[in-house]
Amino acid sequence: MSKEIPLVWLAGSACTGCSISLLNSASPTIKNILIDEIVPGVHINLRFHQTIMAGAGAQVVKVLEDTAREKKGNYVLAVDGAIPTANGAAYGAMGERDGKPVSLEDRFVELARDALAVLAIGTCAAFGGIPAAAPNPTNCQPLSKVLESKGISKPLVNIPGCPPHPDWIVGTIGSILLNGLPTAADLDDNLRPLAFYGKLIHENCPRRAYFDEGKFAQKPGDEGCLYELGCKGPITYADCPIRRWNGGTNWVIGAGAPCNGCTQPEFPDLVAPLYQKLVDIELPTIGAYWAAGKEAK
Ligand code: SF4
Ligand code: SF4
Repeated sequence: MSKEIPLVWLAGSACTGCSISLLNSASPTIKNILIDEIVPGVHINLRFHQTIMAGAGAQVVKVLEDTAREKKGNYVLAVDGAIPTANGAAYGAMGERDGKPVSLEDRFVELARDALAVLAIGTCAAFGGIPAAAPNPTNCQPLSKVLESKGISKPLVNIPGCPPHPDWIVGTIGSILLNGLPTAADLDDNLRPLAFYGKLIHENCPRRAYFDEGKFAQKPGDEGCLYELGCKGPITYADCPIRRWNGGTNWVIGAGAPCNGCTQPEFPDLVAPLYQKLVDIELPTIGAYWAAGKEAK
């Protein structure tokens, strides 16, 4: 008999792209993830996912609340999207209680308090992302900031990306099921799993030889490194060049477009304009770029 790990997935301020990315998982497929044992002897019981579940309304909110109560301390909480906090957290709600909407912030805090661990899925949940871009009128916050402001100490793993690769989501969950919660040695300073975010895009880029030769594309479609076209690969940590997307078919630089730096805490404000060259980067020390506290423009 399989061991069941309950998972609840809450959607914050986001575009739903992270959920769509998960649905595109190639190996295992989403069917395998939901029905089979994702690792031997362990089955994920996705109890609640407001974007893809068939049910709606009070009945499914009851499932969410029952899970939190009955599986207290034993369920994993995944959240895609940032948490809007302005004006009493008025800009996002999920379900009602006593006839009044429950804010996303309250819902997240309640669920996080009793979770085994929290997974921030996508750059919005991990770092604020596009909903928190300046001027951020809804004061969207990443999960880490909301937890900190409420004094909640909970294991948190950030799985950024706009969207994150399905392997980064499924691989992180699978690793937790196999090996337990990640230790500090498994994560970088931004709480990203080193297994997926341990290297710069630039380190593994197939156009790197052009960069080293100084052969730069001047317009999309040109041969050469895309640095002059705004590529943020030299300051972005992710394994896209070797993992590639859509079941390993291709990836953005393979298709001729620059990396936008979507896995970085600085995305989007400090990597914009997306198609503008990084101007103050010191190329021999690119790996230490963020560590030096510089901005990307
Ligand atoms: S700047 Fe971009 S395109 Fe050029 S080698 Fe680095 S990652 Fe590849
Ligand atoms: S190549 Fe860059 S922009 Fe594209 S998904 Fe990877 S980190 Fe994000």
